[in-house]
Amino acid sequence: MTPLLELEHVTYAYHSKNGEVCALSDISFQIQKAEFVAVVGPSGCGKSTLLSLIAGLLTPESGSVLLHSTGEGEAYCTKERKKTQTGIRKDTGYMLQKDHLFEWRTIYQNVILGLEIQHRLNEKTEARVEKMLRDYGLWRFRNAHPSELSGGMRQRAALIRTLAPNPELLLLDEPFSALDFQTRLAVCDDVAAILRKEQKTAILVTHDLSEAVSMADRVLVLSRRPATICANLKLSFEKSDLTPFARRNEPEFRTYFNQIWRELNQYG
Ligand code: ADP
Ligand code: MG
Repeated sequence: MTPLLELEHVTYAYHSKNGEVCALSDISFQIQKAEFVAVVGPSGCGKSTLLSLIAGLLTPESGSVLLHSTGEGEAYCTKERKKTQTGIRKDTGYMLQKDHLFEWRTIYQNVILGLEIQHRLNEKTEARVEKMLRDYGLWRFRNAHPSELSGGMRQRAALIRTLAPNPELLLLDEPFSALDFQTRLAVCDDVAAILRKEQKTAILVTHDLSEAVSMADRVLVLSRRPATICANLKLSFEKSDLTPFARRNEPEFRTYFNQIWRELNQYG
């Protein structure tokens, strides 16, 4: 089966007048459609850089990033090879730690922002957004402003905004780290349920091992900078369709947690 995303020998370095910072070294992996992959690694190892390369915000120095969306491979090749496209990939949705909701816009106006910018606001896309607001408990707040919402609700609104243009691949960069622990557990369950229902392929960057083990189908462990992949671990739980919170009580949870912890301490 053709993977949705394919990285081959990707290397990236930042260049400034103070010299070169090599962030990623020879990164190769594939992600299948509807897979949920978590990326963990020490702070500053290159996790956000990896997501920016996948989103098309950065171009690899060598190697390639291929997003096979809707059957057509869209290549972001090296500088030496012909670059087929520049700029952000439309098929990706990027969600960050801060929700970046605009206070002067209502929740509804915030969630349709991406569609507005892409000139894709029409009856069909509006109906999709409305359905998500209803399904995910924000319909009542559609005319409220972000400051009237709790942290968890704001993250849900940010997720709906990211999902509104219907991206094939979601890139989540530590989206829960600004939330308090209790809210975080609840939002993880919400987000996992939403992504499962929408059948989305997602990459979640997190420094929280429990979050990775509770949410993902697979965990990529990155080493210290320049990041290389030191483990690519498929998670399988005997009971299927567990919520992230329920996974935390299963015996496999501790086994995987310890295994990733060891990898991080050995190479991280
Ligand atoms: P992480 O998300 O894992 O914490 P990043 O991908 O943000 O790490 O950064 C990886 C390394 O690249 C860090 O050492 C960081 O200081 C450096 N870096 C990030 N962005 C830039 C930039 N724009 N210019 C120079 N160095 C950068
Ligand atoms: Mg980061």
